[in-house]
Amino acid sequence: MSLATLEKYLPKDALFYVEKWLQPFPIEIRISRNRESKLGDYRYHPIKRCHQISVNYNLPPDLFFFVLSHEIAHLLVRVSFPRAQAHGPEWKNAYRELLLESVLVYQEDFQPLVEQFSTNPKANFSVSPEIVNYFRPQTNASSFDGLKSGNLFEFRQQRYQLLEKKKKRYLCRNVSTGKEYLFQACAEIKIVANDSR
Ligand SMILES: [Zn+2]
Repeated sequence: MSLATLEKYLPKDALFYVEKWLQPFPIEIRISRNRESKLGDYRYHPIKRCHQISVNYNLPPDLFFFVLSHEIAHLLVRVSFPRAQAHGPEWKNAYRELLLESVLVYQEDFQPLVEQFSTNPKANFSVSPEIVNYFRPQTNASSFDGLKSGNLFEFRQQRYQLLEKKKKRYLCRNVSTGKEYLFQACAEIKIVANDSR
């Protein structure tokens, strides 16, 4: 697909940067179904000799661009430092530069979070509660705030019961396996019907 097809998924004016960053490279971009395990990915296809990036179709535009930039940083590192670690210092530098160069594309209230994140980009933004919370209303996820002990919720298509809050984390039991897990407060859970009737 041509890069211009990305326009409808991106924030206004973001396509300019995507074209600028990707223009020198042979690239295939795929808009993917909603994957629970990841929002995007990058790989180099050695036979086709081209770079492949996919991003989930259903992300809010700012998050789509944020994830796409993450994957483009992988591409740039693959070209310049083929032996670099996936999310090592070269990738952090590349992602930081992309984020800062395009920061004005993001919604005004999201820009400070992008700047803050760019100081030390992490492989997974879910370690940043500010960013998870920013997108929470747009991705229909709910938080532990509205749950009491005994309440049920879903996470990655499995059902869990909240047992108790432990410092900053939540002890929960997988309803079908009986195994217990500690959840971070920012985990993207979905509260299921919890009324007692
Ligand atoms: Zn990555």
